[in-house]
Amino acid sequence: MTAAIKRKTLKVPAAPHAEEPPFKKVLIANRGEIALRVILACKELGIQTVAVYSEADRNSLHVRFADEEVCIGPAPSAKSYLNIPQVIAAAEVTGAEAIHPGYGFLSENAYFVEVCQACGINFIGPNPEIIRKMGNKAQAKATMQAAGIPLMPGSDGLVETVDEALANAEQIGYPVIVKASAGGGGRGMRICNNAEELPELYHTARSEAKIAFGDDAVYMEKYLLEPRHIEVQIMGDLYGNIVHLGERECSIQRRHQKLIEESPSGAITQELRERICAMAVKAARAVGYYNAGTIEFLLDKRGDFFFMEMNTRVQVEHPVTEMVTGIDIVKEQLRIAAGQRLTFTQADVVQRGHAIECRINAEDPWKFTPCPGRITALNFPGGPGIRVDTAMYQDAVIPPTYDSMVAKLIAYGNNRTEALARMRRALDTLVIEGVKTTAPLHRKIMDHPDFISGGFSTKWMETFMAELDAER
Ligand code: ADP
Repeated sequence: MTAAIKRKTLKVPAAPHAEEPPFKKVLIANRGEIALRVILACKELGIQTVAVYSEADRNSLHVRFADEEVCIGPAPSAKSYLNIPQVIAAAEVTGAEAIHPGYGFLSENAYFVEVCQACGINFIGPNPEIIRKMGNKAQAKATMQAAGIPLMPGSDGLVETVDEALANAEQIGYPVIVKASAGGGGRGMRICNNAEELPELYHTARSEAKIAFGDDAVYMEKYLLEPRHIEVQIMGDLYGNIVHLGERECSIQRRHQKLIEESPSGAITQELRERICAMAVKAARAVGYYNAGTIEFLLDKRGDFFFMEMNTRVQVEHPVTEMVTGIDIVKEQLRIAAGQRLTFTQADVVQRGHAIECRINAEDPWKFTPCPGRITALNFPGGPGIRVDTAMYQDAVIPPTYDSMVAKLIAYGNNRTEALARMRRALDTLVIEGVKTTAPLHRKIMDHPDFISGGFSTKWMETFMAELDAER
């Protein structure tokens, strides 16, 4: 006789130090992988989530995995994800206490933060004064100069006429870069090699800035030929505690947009790391910064570094820092916004091992043209040390309306060599069919001697693409 197997009801005891959720309900004013990333953090903290979505995103994963969802308008961002009254109404209707803005969209919009405040909704980020100060790049530079932070040599504020541009360039020395003060995402920049081409480039930069950002204010800087982009992750709470989470290396860029990020950077010594990170904390302190932020620097060949800009939000590349520090930046953002103290001190922050992130874009990998469409087959890599941040799934449709970044593949190893080996095998087992992606390009970069040796600058992709063109 076989004894019937009785099912036992397993009572799972509460974790001994389970924390009170910082909020009851949070609305995520974003889409795609970052909306999902925030939802995951909320789930771990026991926070209810509200997704907002455009008509094009009705079937998105962030909608599926949130506890509640509200459609906020048609596909164009201006009518949905940037539509402040709709986002606020969604928060009010659902009773969300706080809004996480992710990156892009409303994340650095000081006016939006003011509206949140006026409606009694907690904005998960710094206050509007800080966002205004740092969002305008020319003004941010002036603030940083006053705080004693080394700046990229350049114009003293905005450059309002061609004559002024010429005089500035003369003083700075060519090549120079004309940059939109309201710029972002690698747009609104023009590099200029001599006085002959400056007038035309100056005007193009201004008119482009006007179209892209609705603001044609520009400033100028010395253009460094082969710098490295090094940035420092900052976290601060409402009680004046500010710590850094180490640096990220973001020099692999195409058209001034990051493609691959790493932490730590192989380009700096421990001594330089400490100086850059201390400078970043000083910069953040100068503006009374709180929540998550990033201070971006350019590093020249002599080891001098210069402040470039500050991003007052979570960055796309935050996972590499999370992997090496073990700190969950998004959960920390939520706690800070709820008025909790940082859960760690500077002494607790240790960069252990190495992490690399490849941004997988739905683009033709050789021409970089967007490639929206339906995912017909999909396999995400797994195994030790691999993390995939994405909202993609089999049969998902990537709309043409938004950013083409569809996944972030992150590899962690005890050292860079192991992280690279893991990234290679992860790329080899990543299957995305139906749309073209930049994965094959990343696979090639992972095998390139310059990338393996770490000997690259922000210029490197240009040379590499030319190499690839010549091969084909
Ligand atoms: P955005 O806000 O659009 O990302 P950034 O000011 O952060 O613009 O610059 C993006 C990238 O452009 C940098 O990482 C760097 O590669 C390049 N860049 C910007 N300013 C300079 C400069 N003065 N010299 C050399 N490269 C620069």
